[in-house]
Amino acid sequence: MKNTPYWWTALAEKTNTEKPLPIKADVVIVGAGITGLNAALTLVKANRNVLLMDANQAGYGASTRNAGFLSKAHLHSLSTLIQKYGEDKAIPLVEEACKAFDFTQALIEREKIDCHYNPSGRIYWAYTHQQGKKLHTEHQALAKHFSRLNINANLTGSSAQSLDIHSAQYHQGLHVKDSSTLHPGLYTQGLEQRVCENGAELACNTKVKSIEKKASGFTVKTSRGDVQANQVIVATNAYVGEETPYFRQRVVPVVGQMIAIKPNDPAMLEKLLPNHIAHLDVRAMFRFWRRSPDNTHILFGSRTGFAAPNPNKAAAQLKGLLVDIFPQLAQSPVSHYWKGLLGGTMDQFPHLGCHNGIYYATGMNGHGVPMGTYLGDNIAKKLMREHDTATQFDDLSFKAAPLIKGKSWFMPLVCGAQKVAEKMEKPVS
Ligand SMILES: Cc1cc2nc3c(=O)[nH]c(=O)nc-3n(C[C@H](O)[C@H](O)[C@H](O)COP(=O)(O)OP(=O)(O)OC[C@H]3O[C@@H](n4cnc5c(N)ncnc54)[C@H](O)[C@@H]3O)c2cc1C
Repeated sequence: MKNTPYWWTALAEKTNTEKPLPIKADVVIVGAGITGLNAALTLVKANRNVLLMDANQAGYGASTRNAGFLSKAHLHSLSTLIQKYGEDKAIPLVEEACKAFDFTQALIEREKIDCHYNPSGRIYWAYTHQQGKKLHTEHQALAKHFSRLNINANLTGSSAQSLDIHSAQYHQGLHVKDSSTLHPGLYTQGLEQRVCENGAELACNTKVKSIEKKASGFTVKTSRGDVQANQVIVATNAYVGEETPYFRQRVVPVVGQMIAIKPNDPAMLEKLLPNHIAHLDVRAMFRFWRRSPDNTHILFGSRTGFAAPNPNKAAAQLKGLLVDIFPQLAQSPVSHYWKGLLGGTMDQFPHLGCHNGIYYATGMNGHGVPMGTYLGDNIAKKLMREHDTATQFDDLSFKAAPLIKGKSWFMPLVCGAQKVAEKMEKPVS
């Protein structure tokens, strides 16, 4: 079993041609994931001089570790948001998720990024009657607001055939057609290529240690020397460190883990997952799975909050969850196990803006494939003072999380509570 993301097998080998770091740049971007790369692309296309830095390789963070699902949704469902904020606030917030989805699809087309983009649709699965009722409420909310949101969704029937899945675990699903999948490794690599082709400078293995405000501009201190910058964008999401304490206090890293499994019999994959639909089980510790774009593997993940320290043990635990859904996979080997960090915020929305002169787009809450694409572009436009860049997230209060010595002590409690909640969830018999 490899302890690296399945997606990395498709990526070109990196050549180590490290140039000396420039001493000056117009805009320095910290973090070369989907968000930082999109900010860089927008700036460089507007003829700005851009230096993009990453402590590792571009895409080393969550951008090449995720499931590659895209939807017109936030972490909370539309019906939950309406209940919490009322229609007047909830609908515009979901409209932002729709804009992020459409923007990403258009960008992939415009930039001709070959990343197996597939308008595959998504199914949310209910394990209990209560979850089935929630899917019903969500379906009604989506239907009611179809004219504004344009999200097509159907409740599926209860026969295995119509559910498009050969698992006995679920009794109800909500099929949302306006959702997609892509290969996150190839998407991020494609962005990196476009950014570099358009003239931005990418400095990998360059860890930013501090960002100091000067009378004019900033001194960005890095592991490879200092750089003077006129403007700075921070795009570190969950990989944020103490070098940017304001963001460290506000973005909570949450562990997500995935495995790739190659069914022993290739016909089994056809039987278990007959198409490329993205699947999401809405239990407390949600699970998600899909086919690999090359139709060889099943990719399965869960947001577990923390991972067992031993990768073999962690992989076995994940496989156990998958085998609960598809017992037919019990004998199939795990080929890859990996984990990554999702960036949570107190209100579970992304945040962007300018703090003490530093621009930022962060806190993607597990939706950064479309949201990081959209907000990376948006923060670059805000920095250039373009018109019409307002989003619904601009005025949200960016609350600090209750951290102790930089550690989110409450995450184990939250995850523990979710595990207990999950044990109490009884399947439909
Ligand atoms: C298992 C898993 C599954 C997921 N599935 C999905 C999904 O299906 N759909 C979806 O939309 N989202 C998903 N996500 C979330 C998604 O991957 C993220 O929201 C998105 O990648 C965030 O992109 P980003 O560019 O903001 O941050 P990242 O990709 O995390 O990039 C941040 C970068 O900052 C760099 N960095 C940090 N500190 C410094 C420093 N001091 N100096 C220099 N560089 C620094 C890091 O090295 C890193 O490369 C998933 C995440 C995980 C972990």
